[in-house]
Formats: sequence, C-alpha cells, structure tokens
Amino acid sequence: MEEFDAIVVGLGALGSAAACRLAARGSVLGLEQFELGHDRGASQDHSRIIRLSYHTPGYVRLAKRAYEAWAEIERDAGEPLIVRTGGLDLWPADAAIPMTDYTESLTAEQVPFERLDAAEVMRSWPQWSLDDDTLAIFQEDAGIAPAARCNEAHRRLATELGAVLRPNSPVTAIHASTGEVEVEAPDARFRTHRLILTADAWTNDLLSNLGVHLPLTTTQEQVTYFAAPHADDFATERFPIWIWMDEPSFYGFPAYGHPGPKVAQDCGGLPVTPSTRTFEPDPDNLARVTTFVNRHLPSALGPIIETKTCLYTLTPDRDFVIDVVPGHPEVLVALGAAHAFKFAALIGRALDDLATDGATDLDLSPFRIDRPILQLDDPPTSWMI
Ligand SMILES: Cc1cc2nc3c(=O)[nH]c(=O)nc-3n(C[C@H](O)[C@H](O)[C@H](O)COP(=O)(O)OP(=O)(O)OC[C@H]3O[C@@H](n4cnc5c(N)ncnc54)[C@H](O)[C@@H]3O)c2cc1C
Repeated sequence: MEEFDAIVVGLGALGSAAACRLAARGSVLGLEQFELGHDRGASQDHSRIIRLSYHTPGYVRLAKRAYEAWAEIERDAGEPLIVRTGGLDLWPADAAIPMTDYTESLTAEQVPFERLDAAEVMRSWPQWSLDDDTLAIFQEDAGIAPAARCNEAHRRLATELGAVLRPNSPVTAIHASTGEVEVEAPDARFRTHRLILTADAWTNDLLSNLGVHLPLTTTQEQVTYFAAPHADDFATERFPIWIWMDEPSFYGFPAYGHPGPKVAQDCGGLPVTPSTRTFEPDPDNLARVTTFVNRHLPSALGPIIETKTCLYTLTPDRDFVIDVVPGHPEVLVALGAAHAFKFAALIGRALDDLATDGATDLDLSPFRIDRPILQLDDPPTSWMI
C-alpha cells in the first residue's frame, strides 16, 4: 500500500490548487475519477469571473487575498493568468440583491469603485440598453480567471513539485482511523495522515464514508456564447465582465475563448445529481437568457456558438465549506458553493496550511462545517448574492 503525506480526492479547481500547494511541502497523491480537465464537474470552461466586489466585507477581504494567491501562481508558472477587464455590477430599480451590501462592503475594505447611473453606463459601454433608473458600480480590478488554463497551471506545478496525479481513479471507499486514513480506488489502496476532499457535486458520496451528510443542492447550470455581429464590440479591452443583481440574476463576459460574449443566469438550473445530469441545454433557461440579452445587450444577440452545461453545488446559505470533518481530524473538506473559482488558488493554500500546520491566517469561521444551517435536513436557502 503506497503511503503519501497527503491525498487529494477530486482534481477540479480546488483540488488542483490544493495538490499544487501541498506538493511543495510533502508527498502528494491526487485522485480524479475522470480524465484531468474533464467537463463533468464545475471547473471546466474558458472563463470564470474574478472580482473584489462582494456582499460582505469578509468576502471582499478574501477576494483581495485571492488576487495575491493567483499572482503567486502566475509567478511560479511563469505565465500571466488573470485578465483584468473591469467589472460592472448593475441594479435595476427594486433589485432583489441590495446594492448597499456591495457598496458598503467595498467601502469598509477601502476598495475603490465608481458609482454610475444608466446614462453614464451607456455612454461608456453603448452595448448596454438600460432603463433610466438602473444604477451600477464599476470596479477596475474585476476580470477573468481562465478556468481551464488556471487548472492546468496548478496541475503542472503540482507535478513539477513531485505530486502524483492519477486520472480515471475514482475513490470508492475511505477508511479513517486514529491518525491515518486508507483510501480505496478500483485497483489500489493508499494510506495517508492527511486526506483532502475537494469533490464538489460528489461531496456527500465521499462524506458518507465518514458518517457525515450536508444539505447540498446540485443544479445543472448553463452558459451561452453568442456570435455577436460585431464581436469587436465585446473584446476584453472594450467590454467588462458584468453581473445583473436582481432575481433572476444574470452575468456575462466579453469575448474570451470563443469569438463572442458569454451570458448565463446564476442559479437558473434545475436540481440534478451527478448521475442524472445531462449535457443538453435547458430551453427555458436559454429563453430567459436570450430575452435578457435581447432587452439589455441587443448587439450581443447572434447565432449561438455554444451552450455549455456545468454543475453548481450549493450550500443553503451559499457560503463555502472549508473545514475538518467532525470526528475525523485527518480529513479536510472544501466545497465552493458555486462561486469559488476566483478563490481556488487561495483555498488551495488554506487547505495546505490546515493540512500541514493545522491552522491558516485566513478567517474561515463563516465556512465551518458545523454551522447551524448545515445541521438542518431541509434548511431555507438564500442563493442570491
Ligand atoms: C456555470 C458556472 C459558472 C461559474 N461561474 C463562476 C464565476 O464566474 N466565478 C467563480 O468564482 N466561480 C464560478 N463558478 C463556481 C466555480 O466554478 C466552482 O465553485 C469551482 O469550480 C468548484 O471547483 P471544485 O474543484 O470544487 O469542483 P469540481 O471542478 O467539480 O471538482 C470536483 C472533482 O472531484 C472529482 N471527484 C468527485 N468524486 C470523486 C471520487 N470519488 N474519486 C475521485 N474524484 C472524484 C470530480 O470528478 C471533479 O473533477 C461557476 C460554476 C459554474 C458551474
């Protein structure tokens, strides 16, 4: 039985980042049930939003650290990753998501931003068609984390540091005893004294080995790339990432990875499990997105280049879970609640610190696994952030 200082289960964004950081300080095995870079989970696409604008000062502080963590990976990987485009957060009248949550959080953390009215937005970005009473903020540091490239950089660095990354190796059982954990895969067993679970939609499958269950909801989300007639209008230098802060909530990107802008609804997907999900776009979801684009970004509307499906796995309060599994001090679990890509490099480092030093300098108290709402079988949910 091979033994490693740390074993990471799941090599999506979070697991790849954790393996990379852990590999600098010990022997690491990464086990992935599918091929590396597969698109059955939550982390595979051209782009994910990275931003400082968040609904609490705590998340703004965390986002600042996330930029630092990505800068370390860019330095170590010898390649730029984060693409700054600026970010627009937009609030129509009577929006469901409070604007003050964002403006007060940014102000509390001394993050500069501009307040804009509809006319000012449309003057700077004529791609937008907004009602007069729409308000917005612009934050210049927002941009794109190129998802697939970021994951590859983390995995490449991990391998260069000696980590063993095994694709097509589903973990089928976990046997935890005092001080050590044995992990079973179809053709092998491994032992470690530090197990890191970064399995997103499959988290409860793995936690069931440890007698733990979380009230998680997995949904099948989708993003659509439009072949805008004048794609240049949506170039990264001319069009920022954006979020429509209402319910339904939409978000989008300039042209990146495809010759056209990307638009999606946040939490617009239907509940699924990893085994019941399909790769077929939901026509109702697509119709909502197309109606939004036709109304507010009419020049983006064009033939569909691609609609890509993806899994969200949501905690009821949409806060992460980053913690030791109760009763199993050898096992850590991290779950990103469908907004963690931007934090992947930082969460990877936090998992390394927790695994190796037993502590981290980040305030992870909001992400405790034993927080009250996670103890409820059928908790109320609040996913609009
Ligand atoms: C459509 C969409 C848009 C998003 N937009 C943003 C955004 O703009 N900004 C942002 O910050 N975040 C965004 N997110 C959220 C972000 O992408 C996720 O929070 C993040 O990618 C989660 O990474 P992960 O590594 O936890 O999950 P995953 O990438 O799903 O990785 C989990 C891995 O575990 C593996 N696994 C599971 N069980 C086992 C097992 N038994 N044995 C071995 N391997 C196993 C799976 O195969 C998988 O590869 C978005 C997500 C989606 C779906």
